[in-house]
Amino acid sequence: MLDNYQRDINYLRISITDRCNLRCRYCIPKEGLSLIGHDDILRYEEILRVVRIAVSLGVAKVRITGGEPLVRRGVVPFVAALKSVPGIEDLSLTTNGVLLERCAADLFEAGVRRINVSLDSLNSDKYLQITRGGCLDDVLRGIASVYAQGFSPIKINVVAINGFNDDEILDFARLTLDNPYQVRFIELMPLGHPGRDNLGKYLASEIIMRTIAGKYTLNPVNGEREKMDGPAKMYRIAGGMGEIGFISPVSHHFCHRCNRLRLTADGNLRACLLSDEEIDLKTPLRTGCTDDLLETLIKEAIAGKPRKHEVQFDEQSLRKCVKNMSAIGG
Ligand code: SAM
Repeated sequence: MLDNYQRDINYLRISITDRCNLRCRYCIPKEGLSLIGHDDILRYEEILRVVRIAVSLGVAKVRITGGEPLVRRGVVPFVAALKSVPGIEDLSLTTNGVLLERCAADLFEAGVRRINVSLDSLNSDKYLQITRGGCLDDVLRGIASVYAQGFSPIKINVVAINGFNDDEILDFARLTLDNPYQVRFIELMPLGHPGRDNLGKYLASEIIMRTIAGKYTLNPVNGEREKMDGPAKMYRIAGGMGEIGFISPVSHHFCHRCNRLRLTADGNLRACLLSDEEIDLKTPLRTGCTDDLLETLIKEAIAGKPRKHEVQFDEQSLRKCVKNMSAIGG
């Protein structure tokens, strides 16, 4: 379905929980989060109902995220149910990887092939520090299991943080020499309450790219595949097995080709990650609404999708987007 700016809105990202087994410093405020009550989280059958209607309006690509999706009970049967919704051409999952080793085979069996793993440091002490308690080895074993299982592509998402992992840029880049992974650097966004602590930690993609290009030749690879790569600009180090990507929501926003809608864990539709405008679907879902009404609300969300976000990495922007990523679904 086209929005008011002729963008084809065909991608739904679903946060199935706001709960997470990590406490990443840039994502979750140090005082913790007030979690959504269990009854206020959309039930799987409610999500499936929304998805079926969204698909009838043109959504063909669905990503499951959170919070940490793998901590929600019943996620594997839910994924299998999603997989069987006619019209979904692309189903993927974003995870921190901590529980991946034990879930990899079941997720594969359920029909997931595309997986994104978030990993911000290759150093176990630093990983423990940024995640407030995470174990790097769990994640590395998780990545190894999805590789062994045959998932493809395996994308490793690295949020670039000045003063934290800027000294690991080449280590991450080198991962792609001998592994068929897509390592993608993502600019830190000024979201929610931790956003304030993040001021000064933003690192532009251009600097990361220059650092890598100072050591290796980077050949662009997007071309035909651009649709699958989303907003990432992809490169390959000559002779490398994997690829390196840059996602630059702050320095080069990609709003003109944003095709996304988000369904938050508490049942709101959000048309722009960086705007707190949302449409409530949970109330109608729970008060016996018709499919026609849900369709109208989804269309309303699409019609209200802003042309672009106005967010810069400054105090004023932080006030505009107060919801945290864990609640929205990254
Ligand atoms: N728990 C899953 C995970 O870790 O991938 C899914 C949810 S997490 C919120 C999704 C992604 O959002 C992660 O890659 C995380 O690094 C990213 N993220 C969270 N806050 C961010 C911010 N302020 N700027 C950029 N990326 C952010």
